[in-house]
Amino acid sequence: MTALHLRGAVLPDGGERDLWVVNGRVRTTEVPGATTVLDGGYLIPGFVDAHCHVGIGPGGPVDLDTAAGQAEIDRDAGTLLIRDCGSPIDTTPLQERLDLPRIIRAGRHIARPRRYIRHLGVEIEPDDLPDQVARQAAAGDGWVKLVGDWIDREKGDLAPLWSDDVLAEAIRVAHDAGARVTAHVFGEDALPGLIEAGIDCIEHGTGLTPETTAEMARRGTALVPTLINIENFPGIAAGAERFPSYARHMLDLYENVTRTVAHAIEAGVPVYAGTDAGGGIAHGRIVDEVIALHRAGMSAEQAIAAGSWSARAWLGYSGLTEGAAADLLAFADDPREDLETLRNPALVVLRGRVVRQTVR
Ligand SMILES: [Zn+2]
Repeated sequence: MTALHLRGAVLPDGGERDLWVVNGRVRTTEVPGATTVLDGGYLIPGFVDAHCHVGIGPGGPVDLDTAAGQAEIDRDAGTLLIRDCGSPIDTTPLQERLDLPRIIRAGRHIARPRRYIRHLGVEIEPDDLPDQVARQAAAGDGWVKLVGDWIDREKGDLAPLWSDDVLAEAIRVAHDAGARVTAHVFGEDALPGLIEAGIDCIEHGTGLTPETTAEMARRGTALVPTLINIENFPGIAAGAERFPSYARHMLDLYENVTRTVAHAIEAGVPVYAGTDAGGGIAHGRIVDEVIALHRAGMSAEQAIAAGSWSARAWLGYSGLTEGAAADLLAFADDPREDLETLRNPALVVLRGRVVRQTVR
C-alpha cells in the first residue's frame, strides 16, 4: 500500500502538523516515499454516526446489498464509524469490506409483542429479557439495544416496556458479558428505571426531566438525542388520531426538545451525534445532526467533537495520534468557523486509503 503524507491543522488542538498514513495507521514520524495528498487545511478524525441502522429502509428490513448501499452513502458524507443501533439483518459480512465504514453492531432491537415497529426487533415477554440480552450481547459487537418505551395502545400513551427489576438483572447480564446497553426512550416514565439499572446510554431522551438529566450527568450516562429524527414527531402525532393523549404527548416532547437537550449539555451529560438513519431518516445526514446539536447549545467545536473525536473515544477509537486508525477527513477551511464546511470534505481517508478526493 502506498504511504500517504498530509499536512494541516489537526483538530481538536488545531496545531499545524505532518501526518503519515501507512498500513491503515496514522504515523507521526516521517515515512519515506510517502505521497503528499494534503498540504494545508484542517484534519479531523472521521465522523461517527452514533445512532444509525444499516439494514433498515423506509419499508422495514432490507437485503444485504441495499444495506451496503446505505453504508456507502454514510461513508461518502464522511461517516467512517457507525454505531449500529439495532438491525433486523446480520450485517457482519459488511464488516469484511474495507471500503465501507467500520460498523459496531448491536444485534437486534429487543422489544415486546405489539410494542415496537413490526419486523424490526425480537419480540419477547418481560421474563425472558435477561436471556435475550445475553443472546444479543453475544451476537453484537459490545452493544445491546432495548426498546425502553413505546405506545401502549390500552393506555393510549407512551409507557415503559420493562419493570425496574427485570431491567436491573438484564443490564447486569450485559455488563457481565462485556457489553454496554442502550435504550430507545421517548417519554419520561421509562427513564428513572433504566438509569438506575445502570444503562450506558439513552437514545432520543426527549422525556428527560431536570431530575433524570442530573442523574445521567452524575453517572456519566451518555445521550444520543437524534435531533433530526425528532423532527418526525409532529407527523407521528398527526397519524395517531385514535390516541389523542399520545399525540399530545409526542407534540409536547417535540416542542420542548431543544430545551431538553440544552439542559443535558449544560448539565454535563456526554452527548453524541446520531442521525437514526434507516426508517424515517435518510442515510448520509450526519452533518445535519452536528449542526442541530450546535443549535441546541453546543459550541461549534463541541458539536464537531460530538460527531467525531469525542464519539470515537467513547466507542474505543483514538484521535489522529501515533498508531490510530487512519480514518480521517480534511477540509480546506476551518469547520469551527462555519459548520457548513463539514458538508464538503476535500479528502476522505478510510483505513488508510483515499476513498474520496475533491480536486480544488
Ligand atoms: Zn433508531
